[in-house]
Amino acid sequence: MDYAQLVGYLNELAGASPRIAMLEAGASPLGRPMYVTFISSPENISRLDELRAINERLALDPAIPDNERAEMIRNGKVFVMQTLSMHSGEVAPSQSLPIFAHRMATTEDPEVLARLDNVVLMVVPSHNPDGMDMVVEHYREYLGTDYEGSRLPRVYHKYVGHDNNRDFISLTQEDTRVIAALYSTEWYPQVMVEKHQMGSTGPRYYVPPNHDPIAQNVDEGLWNWSAVFGSNLSRDMAEDGLQGVASHWLFDDYWPGSTETSLYKNVISFLTEAASCRTASPVFVEPTELSVRGKGLAEYKKGVNMPYPWPGGTWSLGDIVSYELSSMRSILATASRHRAEILQYRNDICRKQVEMGRTEAPHYFVLPQAQRDPSELRALVTLLQRHGVTVDRLNQATVVGDFHFTAGDIVVRLSQPYRTFVKEVMEDQQYPERHYTPGGELIRPYDITSWSLPRHMGVRSIQVDIRSEELEARLEPVGEATEVELEISDNATALLFSPSVNASYRAVFAALDKGLGVARAIQPIGVSDGTELPAGTFVISLEGVSAQAVKALVDSTKTAPVVFEGEIQQELIPVSMPRVALVETWFHDMDAGWTRYLFDNYGIPYRVLHPEDFEAAELTRDFDLIVFPGAGKDVLTKGKRKRGDRYVSNDYPPQFRKPISKEGLGKLTAFIESGGTIVSWGGSTGLFTEGLAPASGEKDGDTVELPVRDVTKDLQGVSVPGAFLAVDFIADHPLTWGMPQRAGSFSRGTPVFGTSIPTLDTDRRVIATYPERDLLISGYLEGEKELQNRPVMVWVRAGKGQLVLFGFRPQFRGSTPATFKLVFNSLLLPTPK
Ligand SMILES: [Zn+2]
Repeated sequence: MDYAQLVGYLNELAGASPRIAMLEAGASPLGRPMYVTFISSPENISRLDELRAINERLALDPAIPDNERAEMIRNGKVFVMQTLSMHSGEVAPSQSLPIFAHRMATTEDPEVLARLDNVVLMVVPSHNPDGMDMVVEHYREYLGTDYEGSRLPRVYHKYVGHDNNRDFISLTQEDTRVIAALYSTEWYPQVMVEKHQMGSTGPRYYVPPNHDPIAQNVDEGLWNWSAVFGSNLSRDMAEDGLQGVASHWLFDDYWPGSTETSLYKNVISFLTEAASCRTASPVFVEPTELSVRGKGLAEYKKGVNMPYPWPGGTWSLGDIVSYELSSMRSILATASRHRAEILQYRNDICRKQVEMGRTEAPHYFVLPQAQRDPSELRALVTLLQRHGVTVDRLNQATVVGDFHFTAGDIVVRLSQPYRTFVKEVMEDQQYPERHYTPGGELIRPYDITSWSLPRHMGVRSIQVDIRSEELEARLEPVGEATEVELEISDNATALLFSPSVNASYRAVFAALDKGLGVARAIQPIGVSDGTELPAGTFVISLEGVSAQAVKALVDSTKTAPVVFEGEIQQELIPVSMPRVALVETWFHDMDAGWTRYLFDNYGIPYRVLHPEDFEAAELTRDFDLIVFPGAGKDVLTKGKRKRGDRYVSNDYPPQFRKPISKEGLGKLTAFIESGGTIVSWGGSTGLFTEGLAPASGEKDGDTVELPVRDVTKDLQGVSVPGAFLAVDFIADHPLTWGMPQRAGSFSRGTPVFGTSIPTLDTDRRVIATYPERDLLISGYLEGEKELQNRPVMVWVRAGKGQLVLFGFRPQFRGSTPATFKLVFNSLLLPTPK
């Protein structure tokens, strides 16, 4: 069923049953309403507000008097939040809910009714309604054809596809914010479950406890509680005759990007994973095809982590639904059985975290008001508040130890209920290195290893390990951001926007869109108060511009420019908006999706080009600049994805597997040579580091060799699962305007470049290198020596064209504002003389 059918049915059920209620919680990125389905006893449903208030007090108040607390625990109910099918290809959890809800609405089993009196289930029927409809539509379109059950070509989301499970720190997407608000600031459930599916040939169902490594900041009680739910799931599902339930396998839990971020906010939080069929079509699994991959199970055999293996056979959507129904029943039973203990634990952990913030370092993170990029400081404060974190401001200058803080500096106290979250996202990450056996192999990270918000956003943060009552007495809450006040005198000639500030670029893109005159200064500009704006400063001429237009520009970007009077005594480079093409493949191209998100968010116009479009496109006529995000060269030029040395099979219908044709590649070369600009990072740089295809029109022409290559293959033992690494930038280049000399960058290790003396009509400039030492800022890195001093961002000229190649990921998952301006500078790169 599609999303309208799903919520239509649930709404009808809510109308008919006093045990069900539907709440509209917000909207998805493509505008579909998102709901929570409450399932509980009629009495609980009729007093949800009162129960919500109990949840809030237990979650956030460390000082409830004992007798009052005892009464709240007596009257309170365990709220179990479940989000279904966030990954829209994993259809079964959402498809199960109507049956489960109907059973709960109609059961007369006294045991189940008693459970519904102890527990309020709050189920998000679809965590990703946009993606759900895309998948259902695709499935229906190809039903009965060779492509029945094939994966959806493109991302199942407006922007980010599978990465919607990696956005719960940055909260960039609207649906992420809706879900995060439910547990962080609105309903305070004590238990949270995220329901997924996995591959077809391993265990049938995954339940906690998770495998090592686990997050070191998270309270032991939370790990123990999720194990209680997990062991009950294993037992209950086996009693229901369901085989193949595994735990303590594959899925580790050191990383807070998914909804398990709620663990860091004291919620007992875990995921379940069911084996998949092909969307809604069954698969047959030969017993000899059954296998396990990953930590915790070395053989597909009966073992303590999978005591009741599934023998193979047919596996259908109906089977998965049976497992989900059993799973939901078990979770309800466990929550009911431990109602009072769970409620008490929620308040105990609140008390404990607040106390730890008082008695254990770190005590505060201070974000000085003086920042290179004040717009990102403001963004960080807003983000923390959105997470339910209390953020304060110093109302007078204060000295703590060696630190001199000024009035207006931002203080994030650790002594608050969400202390674990604050600590985790404000400090640098150290990957918890654990081994399978003493002295044995390292347990490798499942995903990235760095998410420090100050680092990723380029905000200076100071960790304070000394408690100061004086400082605490001088804190006041940070309010809403105020309107930008701007006085423009009659003598004003220009507005100056600093290139160090990300919001300046938003203003510039808006100004260009409105047709205002924008230029950049090559030299620093001194202003009337004696300070100086750096090279690369944007100059927006006020000649002929109405006061209204200026106000609209400033308001929309929430950035106060410097108002300049008189004449600027230096040559200015005019800035214009290039006509941008953004290359997006059909291969669930999340990085391209994130790039679309970045561009939309900053007001950058673009057109999407798919690989098969190149052949017919008039690149030179229609575009000035082409952005190639991280899709690999094999996807772009062969229409196949490579894993190691092997091409991975792919079941997309053929029109979604077309690569850039030979003719298309020739057009790309012609585009560059005639003056086009290429911006490329990650895997797509392979298109340019191995020479360009002969330009179209040149029969039997030679490949065009560029003075840059990818040297990754020469490096030994380098492993960067996703870490924040230091990078040194050259000064005074249009690409690095606004950047500090040394900055952090998000890296996955490859590519790393080597350059050579240019020949023929080419040139190159190394824009950034990894430093000589101290590469690792946050996360995990092996093989640091191999990376030292290597070029990691290179500018290349070929004919009249230019290429900007990144080895790090300048816009990784929308979470790295520290390097966004390198992308913006690439878009605004002047034509070489
Ligand atoms: Zn999933």
